[in-house]
This record gives sequence, structure tokens and C-alpha cells, in this order.
Amino acid sequence: MIKDDKCIFCKIIEKSIPSKVLFENDKNLAFLDIFPVSKGHTIVIPKNHYKNLEEIPNNELSELFEIVKKVSILIHKKLKVDGYNILQNNFRAAGQVVNHFHVHIIPRSNEDGKFKLFIPKKQAKEEELNQILRVING
Ligand code: AMP
Ligand code: ZN
Repeated sequence: MIKDDKCIFCKIIEKSIPSKVLFENDKNLAFLDIFPVSKGHTIVIPKNHYKNLEEIPNNELSELFEIVKKVSILIHKKLKVDGYNILQNNFRAAGQVVNHFHVHIIPRSNEDGKFKLFIPKKQAKEEELNQILRVING
């Protein structure tokens, strides 16, 4: 296992910090967030310590997302929620606090008023979109 001794999620994996485990296998762990956005807010992590999306190898990412799907269906059925957001923060600017790659499953109910990803926004001009494409695609 790849491990960082100072990482809080690595400590959760080795059980030196307790957590409420929903699912565990040899490679991945899903546990309840202790500062939940909503009831059942869950964190899914690989047991190997990777800082972010760019570090985790594709095969481990695929396996992790199978667990994200499994746990999401479990939460949807058992907690009878109306929906859920899958959220994954990378780097401080995006709100990443724990530098061990993780996926949030955030249960939602209709009209819970928590957050919507359709933040106030205005339609982009076609030239702005073209400009971004040129920068990204070269
Ligand atoms: P992020 O902002 O994407 O880095 O999210 C880190 C998440 O980890 C936050 O939602 C925290 O509430 C959660 N968290 C931090 N420490 C613990 C812990 N000991 N047990 C469970 N969840 C934690
Ligand atoms: Zn870690």
C-alpha cells in the first residue's frame, strides 16, 4: 500500500482513527463524512495514497468508481433519498482539504435547498468558447 503517515485518510484506512464504514474491500473504503452536508454523506477512497485525480492510476480509478456506484445505489435505496451528487475536489482552489484522492456521495432530497451546480451564470459568447477550445486543443 502507498501510505502517507501524516494523512488523515491513511490513518482511517489503518484504523488508527475510527470511522463509520459502509463498505470495505482490499483496495477501497467508503465511510461516513463526520461533517456531513446531508444525512448519509459518504467518502469513498482508494487504500493507496494518491493526492488527486491526476495521480490515481486508471485501473484503480475504475475500480473505485465501481464502489462509488455500488454505495450510491445502497444509499439511494436504503436512505430513500431523492437523488445524490458525486463530487470530487482537486487542489485547494477547488476546495480540496484532504490531500488523499476521494469522492463524495452527497444524498439530496427534493427542495432541500442545499446547493445546486447551476450557479448564477450567463451564456458565453461563441467566440469565448472557441478561444477556450483553441487554448485546450492547441
Ligand atoms: P474535501 O474538501 O473534498 O477535501 O473533503 C474532505 C472531507 O473529509 C470533508 O467533507 C470532511 O468533512 C471529511 N473529513 C475530514 N476528516 C474526517 C474524518 N476523520 N472522518 C470522516 N470524514 C472526515
Ligand atoms: Zn492518505
